[in-house]
Amino acid sequence: MDKQTLSFQAEVKQILHLVTHSLYSNKEIFLRELVSNASDACDKLRFEALNNPALLEDAPNLDVRVAFDADAKTLTITDNGIGLSTDEAVANLGTIAKSGTREFMSALEGEQKKDAQLIGQFGVGFYSGFIVADRITVESRRAGLPPEQGVRWSSEGSGDFEIETITRAARGTSVTLHLREGEEEFLSGWKLKAIIGKYSDHISLPILMRKEEWDAEASKQVTTDEWAPVNKAAALWTRSKNDITKEQYDEFYKQLSYDTEPPLAYTHNRVEGRSEYTQLLYIPAKAPFDLWNRDKRGGVKLYVKRVFIMDDAEALMPVYLRFVKGVIDSADLPLNVSRELLQESRDVKAIREGSTKRVLGMLEALADSADDAEKAKYAAFWKDFGVVLKEGVGEDHANQERLTKLLRFASTDASSMQADQGVSFTDYLGRMKEGQEAIYYVTADNLAAAKSSPQLEIFRKKGIEVLLLVDRVDEWMLSHLYEFAGKPLQSVAKGSVDLGKLQDEAEKKQAEEAATAFKPVLDRLKEALKDRAKDVRVTTRLVDSPACLVVEEGDMSGHLARLLKQAGQAAPKSLPTLEVNAEHALVKRLDASAHFDDLANILFDQALLAEGGQLEDPAAYVKRVNALLLA
Ligand code: ADP
Ligand code: MG
Repeated sequence: MDKQTLSFQAEVKQILHLVTHSLYSNKEIFLRELVSNASDACDKLRFEALNNPALLEDAPNLDVRVAFDADAKTLTITDNGIGLSTDEAVANLGTIAKSGTREFMSALEGEQKKDAQLIGQFGVGFYSGFIVADRITVESRRAGLPPEQGVRWSSEGSGDFEIETITRAARGTSVTLHLREGEEEFLSGWKLKAIIGKYSDHISLPILMRKEEWDAEASKQVTTDEWAPVNKAAALWTRSKNDITKEQYDEFYKQLSYDTEPPLAYTHNRVEGRSEYTQLLYIPAKAPFDLWNRDKRGGVKLYVKRVFIMDDAEALMPVYLRFVKGVIDSADLPLNVSRELLQESRDVKAIREGSTKRVLGMLEALADSADDAEKAKYAAFWKDFGVVLKEGVGEDHANQERLTKLLRFASTDASSMQADQGVSFTDYLGRMKEGQEAIYYVTADNLAAAKSSPQLEIFRKKGIEVLLLVDRVDEWMLSHLYEFAGKPLQSVAKGSVDLGKLQDEAEKKQAEEAATAFKPVLDRLKEALKDRAKDVRVTTRLVDSPACLVVEEGDMSGHLARLLKQAGQAAPKSLPTLEVNAEHALVKRLDASAHFDDLANILFDQALLAEGGQLEDPAAYVKRVNALLLA
């Protein structure tokens, strides 16, 4: 093919503009990105060669070579990995297949704007070369293609790139950066070695550079023709724990996850027994932008005997732990393991169970730590990842108990809320009143609404703690969780209030008498609201409010019905029960009122509003209130 000029996809142009105009700090990460691409290319070749050994040709030893030419001001990263065909060069270096460009752009708008570290996170690392280069030339030959089918790709990183067919004897790719004016610092063996040491030491294949020698005559360092490794070239997880520093663990994590911050915690173990494997698992400090996406996997990479197999090994981690990053290297699985096989393999199941337990163990260690700093880490974790962990309560029955101990809630207990740690079921149990038989909670759309639920009034008065559940997933979680340590979970808005032993005999008697005396009014209310309320009854759960709505045990809560409606799903229609506070002035006035029906409906509407519901007919409500104001 003759030389052709092609235009970059619009998204690539945007990225390039940002890369060349906005990224100033941590420029040096371009080398990490290019070395990581070279290493990926070698991994891909190794994997394809499992089924087609001919691809390795006569060069089975894979490596990455970094060289510079001070006179030409170029820096070249060469690998003998899988290489690129012409079509692949056009597609992979001219378009962005993955989504995430927009997220990348908006991340750059933020405070970290100028930090080049961000780039790798969004799968556009190749373009980071243009931070320091005003021209990049890529020469490549795909493994398996003849030398005449090599390709040269070249671009100045603005609107377009050139592509032409070349003859290239060597398999693999070389990327040459023509450094910009002012970027000469990267033309130093010492500097390049330092960058590789910092970011790429754990890369499992050798990174080679030309040896340098002191030339006494010229009195300067000169490069020789001899290549020597500049990294350890042993995959980090295969090394002994004692030989790995925290900085190395952190750097490996950053490379793996493209996170700019160090992880919250990690665990590194060699597991022996029925199934033999090494696990190195990390918990990130911050949630990624797409944490909510249950389909997004790929946190844990699967290796078999150090050969990279796949990085979306969803069979290795339950969905609710999708935030975990790391590596699992199995000694037992066959190298040509397929996705289907992964799903069924007993070894994989054992790995998954073992890894899940390790992650829960890490979380427990933070949560139960006597050290305040560690505890604070758990609080930070919970804030970002708690919603996802809650999915596990419903999905992972084997670990349900451990998971429920890790749950944290907002609560009506003021002192615990100040500590900003959230309340665990264990904390709650420790504060239960004498004679209290249930764990009380209320669900609502947000914290403010939960706190002002009228149903809480009697609990406040009696000093009984109530957990405030305001995450969307809570209702779903509660449909899988009925008790903790033998104490049932009880919604304060479900069923008739039964405080059991917490209510004294006098109170019970008083309530019964009130109910009897109030019976005629109740009958009138039932009649007036017969289309809206299943029942009307006197309650002791209210102190300041005149009325509230409750649902019967087993019926869907108003909150859940609203969530379903918002999600476009039909909620079974069941009428709520209206409970009235016979001690309230408004309720006392009912019987003698000439506007009984209006008042009855207003009571109902206000109760609905108070729990965050929406009036079916707001205009009718306004009309009734106005009629009363004028009466
Ligand atoms: P990512 O590495 O996340 O896929 P990059 O922007 O770093 O994104 O690279 C884009 C693509 O270009 C890679 O997915 C790969 O297909 C191709 N590529 C880059 N460098 C090489 C290389 N050295 N050898 C083969 N292909 C490469
Ligand atoms: Mg890359």
